[in-house]
Amino acid sequence: MQIQCTDKELFIFNKIAKASKALSMPCYLIGGFVRDKLLDRETKDADIVCIGDGIRLAHTVAELFNPKPPVAFFKNFGTAQIKIPGLDIEFVGARKESYAEHSRKPSVETGTLEEDTSRRDFTINALAISLNENDFGDLLDPFNGIEHLEQKIIQTPLEPIKTFSDDPLRMMRAIRFATQLGFTIEANTFNAIKTDVERIKIVSQERITDELNKIMLASKPSVGWYLLRDSGLLEIIFPLLLQLQGAEYIDGVGHKDNFSHTLQVLDNIATNTNDLWLRWAALLHDIAKPATKRFSKEEGWTFHGHEVVGARMVPKIFTKLKLPQNEKMRLVQKLVALHLRPISLTKENITDSAIRRLLFDAGEDIDALMLLCNADITSKNRAKVKRYLANFEIVRKRLIEVEEKDKMRNWQPPITGEIIMQTFGLPPGRNIGIIKDAIREAILDGEIPNEYEAAYELMLKNAARLDLKPVI
Ligand code: ATP
Repeated sequence: MQIQCTDKELFIFNKIAKASKALSMPCYLIGGFVRDKLLDRETKDADIVCIGDGIRLAHTVAELFNPKPPVAFFKNFGTAQIKIPGLDIEFVGARKESYAEHSRKPSVETGTLEEDTSRRDFTINALAISLNENDFGDLLDPFNGIEHLEQKIIQTPLEPIKTFSDDPLRMMRAIRFATQLGFTIEANTFNAIKTDVERIKIVSQERITDELNKIMLASKPSVGWYLLRDSGLLEIIFPLLLQLQGAEYIDGVGHKDNFSHTLQVLDNIATNTNDLWLRWAALLHDIAKPATKRFSKEEGWTFHGHEVVGARMVPKIFTKLKLPQNEKMRLVQKLVALHLRPISLTKENITDSAIRRLLFDAGEDIDALMLLCNADITSKNRAKVKRYLANFEIVRKRLIEVEEKDKMRNWQPPITGEIIMQTFGLPPGRNIGIIKDAIREAILDGEIPNEYEAAYELMLKNAARLDLKPVI
């Protein structure tokens, strides 16, 4: 079987073949590049394995390019990298590995191509293409990788228990590839994950979260989260999420299973955005439902305040998962906190002031919030979904109308704290906040127009109540 390379890729591979011949060092394209070419997926990096010193090969290859690209190399790992625009190439000598029990860092020795392919994680990642003169372009498939690509199967080349025990990160990779590619994990391979799940504890959180983020960015991320649950990994790496599972019944009254609801919302939002953080917001939007769940005869099941409690939980979750503690986290927090607001507007008469308040609170993230709310409409009852979506459209239209009229996005009240301090000769302090808040609330409620003069008048009135007199 041949793979379809671009002219540019062929040009680069011919140079590598030339260097390999000059050094009498056989070399092969291997791993993800071959797999993704065969699946017609985009490729940005290529791994080259050679029978010899990968760093030496990389330097010889670099000499053949004009201008000569820099060679980044890592002596300890025996790897080197060259970046040609459009393709990053990684070079490594073929190796065999053995693993110590409490570490995923192997001791590495030089090996043959067969030994190298057998230490790869999955059969579909153990495909190689020769770059050698006598069989240039031939595909080597030692573990039925092609058949497994066709059957859409993730399977380890060797005994799965050993493969996962050697490097438990492979358990996460199996689930990630199954999610990204829409493949099934072969039964023995999946059972071995179940058996070995505890060993995930020796993998660093950063590596686990890298895989979680790749799962999150797949076209149907729920596939990965269900596999994480079914394998037992979720219980170890993110038990909070598992608490969403199950529907409790009292007096014949139940609530929906918030685990499957959450994953449905995640898949819904994934059809509308590739933004990783909006997807995390979807996953976490109901995270505080277990903590806020109550039952009363009058109201049935309620989750009052779950949006507020959930928003407070976000920083802890981000810390635990080693996700960034920056504006991305604050965006997720804000979306979790506000996720009920647009829907709550559809239940009552929607006043301009309610819309203005929502625009003010969401600020520039209003579109993201609307995407989340739209994704949150998941009832099994079609008529209900239709009604919600119709109401939701009304809110969307009103948002546009009010925004056009009042320009609330990124809005700041016309009287600033600075103006208040200057007018009354005050240092920063509590009174400034009281006056500022009163002006903002009056404008949002439509009691005064969004104009400087009206706001100034109100400032004087509120200041008088606090016994403050203007000094200018
Ligand atoms: P992606 O680029 O989407 O992560 P990839 O398969 O290219 O996919 P890399 O992490 O770049 O993944 O790894 C390149 C190749 O190295 C893989 O195709 C696989 O053959 C091998 N490999 C990577 N990580 C492991 C591992 N933990 N255990 C065994 N083999 C691995």
